[in-house]
Amino acid sequence: MNPEEILKQVAQEVSVCTRCALHFSRKLAVPGEGPSNADIMFIGEGPGFHENEQGRPFVGAAGKYLDELLASINMKRSDVFIGNVVKCRPPGNRDPLPDELASCSEYLNRQIQAINPKVIVTLGRYSMAHFLPNARISDIHGQAMNVKGRLIVAMYHPAAALHQKSLKTTIEEDFARLPDLIAKAMQNNAYGKSGADEIPEESESAPIEKKEPKQLSLF
Ligand code: URA
Repeated sequence: MNPEEILKQVAQEVSVCTRCALHFSRKLAVPGEGPSNADIMFIGEGPGFHENEQGRPFVGAAGKYLDELLASINMKRSDVFIGNVVKCRPPGNRDPLPDELASCSEYLNRQIQAINPKVIVTLGRYSMAHFLPNARISDIHGQAMNVKGRLIVAMYHPAAALHQKSLKTTIEEDFARLPDLIAKAMQNNAYGKSGADEIPEESESAPIEKKEPKQLSLF
C-alpha cells in the first residue's frame, strides 16, 4: 500500500474502532488529516467537543489558534498533517487514560511510518510523552530532539496557551523557531541524515510505557 492508502486504511479502522471505552461515547472518530507526504506532522492530545461532532482535528478554539500560529510562519493547515494521540473524544475533555493511549498508539505509529515526516511537533504533554515519556515540557519545549532518528519538537498545547498569557508568548516564540528547525532537518535529509548526529537503533514504535528515552540530542 502507498502512504495515502495506508492513511485511508487507518482512518477506516479508527472510524469503527472498539479497542477502548472511548468508542462508547464518541460521535465521530478523528483520525487526523493532511497530505500523505507532509514534511511536518502536528500531534495534539485528543478530539474535543467540536472535533467529535465534525470528525476533524483542531476545529474549535484551539484549532483557530493553531491556524493563526501556522499563519505566523507562512504555513497553512493544508500544508501539514494534523492528528492526535487518541482518536476519540475523552468524555468532558478529560485527560486520556493510559489504556486509551496504549490502545490508540499503534494507529499513530502507522500514520507516522506512512507519512515519514521530516519534523514532528507535539502539542501538549500526552503527545510529547508518546515520544519522550520522561521529559518535562517546561524543560524541552521548542527544542529539536532526536528520538529514534526522528526529529521531535515539543510545544505547549494551544488550548493551554490560550488560557495562560505566559504560555502564549512561549508557544509563539517556539513557533517562530520552527522554520529554522525545519530547514535544518531538510538540509540534513539532503545529506542522507535524519536531522541528528546519533540515531539509536531501536524498533520503529515508541511505547508510552517506556521509562527512559534512549538517546536525545539537540542541534
Ligand atoms: N485539542 C487536541 O488536542 N486535539 C484536537 O483535535 C482538538 C483540540
